[in-house]
Amino acid sequence: MPASAPAPALAGRGLVVATQVWPQRVTLWQFSGAGNCFSKHRDYRAGVLGVLNGSLLLVRVLKIPAMAEMRKIIHVDMDAFYASVEQRDHPELRGKPVIVAWRGNRSVVCAASYEARGFGVHSAMPAGRAERLCPQATFVPPDFTRYRAVSCQVREIFKRHTDLIEPLALDEAYLDVTENKTGLPTATLVARTIREQIRQELKLTASAGVAPNKFLAKLASDWRKPDGLFVIQPEDIDGFLLPLPVGRLSGVGKVTGDELEKLGLKTVGDLRSVDLPPLEDRFGRYGRRLYELARGIDDTKVVRTGRRSRYRSRIPLSRTFYWQRWSP
Ligand SMILES: [Mg+2]
Repeated sequence: MPASAPAPALAGRGLVVATQVWPQRVTLWQFSGAGNCFSKHRDYRAGVLGVLNGSLLLVRVLKIPAMAEMRKIIHVDMDAFYASVEQRDHPELRGKPVIVAWRGNRSVVCAASYEARGFGVHSAMPAGRAERLCPQATFVPPDFTRYRAVSCQVREIFKRHTDLIEPLALDEAYLDVTENKTGLPTATLVARTIREQIRQELKLTASAGVAPNKFLAKLASDWRKPDGLFVIQPEDIDGFLLPLPVGRLSGVGKVTGDELEKLGLKTVGDLRSVDLPPLEDRFGRYGRRLYELARGIDDTKVVRTGRRSRYRSRIPLSRTFYWQRWSP
């Protein structure tokens, strides 16, 4: 549970144990009520009361995450990236429908300029279909070496502001700017500066979303596309989220969307009215994720490039290790 949700669940109910211990922070598991219903809470400060067994600690919660500890996340998404790079480098293509794809029946569209999108062309569509929809479009064979080089330049701009960068693709990334390197006072200002630097230095446009977590930041960057900036403040989460169709939630594709609709759940607001157990019955582990997303909760962290940090975060800490950390 992220900082945005003050810890109601931890108040005197059930058994609280910790499985992972950092110097000051722990991951807590709270077992509550009947069955094996438990919830996971990260980043609590706690003191160790005792050891239950080799991997479980009994702890006393010392400090619950405060609002001040809430993350500030930016999701940056380059607009029609490959097509925009082509239009930038080939001025004769500007203002015209451009489709980045090899021609041919077995090829798919890698990117479409906004002019081409007006004809219904979008990425991942078969190239033949795109050609029928927009015969006047210029087809450009993709040049990933060049796109990768531009992507690195974009990354260099991000690095001026934070080291906590999680790229999702060549054209999009999450940035955790809770503490940023330039000392700009707000995440909105950081996002505005990044967009301006991309425009000035690379002659490209990017859309950005600013929010307290990754899930909301990604929704936000899509909101004012292209060349837009949208900010979701903690107090605006419900107003933004509840009217959205459930299909906008991350991970809800056609199958889950249809299933939710069969249950009469069309909007995130509808989904919010459903308790956790029925969702878990129906969707298994993803049920919890749905339950949290409907409440604007997403405690997944921005993970730096490379497998190492991801791998390390999964290594269970040995007994020796936490005793080294915690013994007086
Ligand atoms: Mg993009």
